[in-house]
Amino acid sequence: MANKIDEIREIARKLMEEETVERVIGYGKADFTEEMTPVFITSPEEVEKLLFNEKSNMMLAKYLLNYKDSKTGIVAKPCDTRAIASYLSEDMLKRDNVVIIGINDCPGMTDNTACNECEVRNPVLSDYTVGEEGEVPELKLDKTLEEMSTAERKEYFVDQFSRCMRCYACRQACYVCYCEECFVDSNQPRWVGQGTNPEDNFTYHLMRAMHMAGRCINCGACEVACPEDIDVRALTAHLSRYAEEIYNFKSGMDPQAKTLLSDYNPDDSQPGFID
Ligand code: SF4
Ligand code: SF4
Ligand code: SF4
Repeated sequence: MANKIDEIREIARKLMEEETVERVIGYGKADFTEEMTPVFITSPEEVEKLLFNEKSNMMLAKYLLNYKDSKTGIVAKPCDTRAIASYLSEDMLKRDNVVIIGINDCPGMTDNTACNECEVRNPVLSDYTVGEEGEVPELKLDKTLEEMSTAERKEYFVDQFSRCMRCYACRQACYVCYCEECFVDSNQPRWVGQGTNPEDNFTYHLMRAMHMAGRCINCGACEVACPEDIDVRALTAHLSRYAEEIYNFKSGMDPQAKTLLSDYNPDDSQPGFID
């Protein structure tokens, strides 16, 4: 990774020195632990803080929404570039305001099971890249859920979500969840009660999953963020696979593409997504 880190710093330094961007968002070492944390570089002197390794798990793309109207550089794993492509297709960002430093040949992150299933290991869009492009390693696809009956799948998720304490870390970590007011915070109407009864937990996860259909990029940020080790990605990843299988649609691959739910075809077979 040392070469990649040098390349990242060199590009970030150039961007800051030439005042091409107001800041560069990247990864750096967290205080008091070996974990990584987002860092926000605003001067050439700070670029030495930038690092990259297999603990660079966080989805940084979401921070771009805080800086929509100014120019920002970002260190982007391939899944971050897919999130950026989705934001562009949803008209949430202006391409001219983002300078993407894409990471080639993503090695996958520790503690992120989504990386076992990831077949996009090079950026889908970038202004600079670091490292050489790489091949997709052998994937380990977990088909357990697909092989369950509908009743078994429901039982599995009821059991998983019964442990949820509704901290909403999964929502906060997810690039898709950018609504100014989430339905769970609304009290007019109130969709879910406060507290953590199992029915309300299930409602939260099912409604969130519906908002993810055709948008989840299976990055695993939700699962990594969950303090209860809940298989929260399984439901949304299942929807991603469904979107690919039925509509040949893979989200975040093309910034010009219409989003799945904004494109209508009267010949759609319209199967239920949890069937
Ligand atoms: S989901 Fe893919 S691109 Fe993202 S960290 Fe894992 S292997 Fe890398
Ligand atoms: S992060 Fe885990 S515990 Fe928190 S709301 Fe999401 S699933 Fe529930
Ligand atoms: S729901 Fe999908 S896009 Fe959102 S954090 Fe989880 S895996 Fe990533």
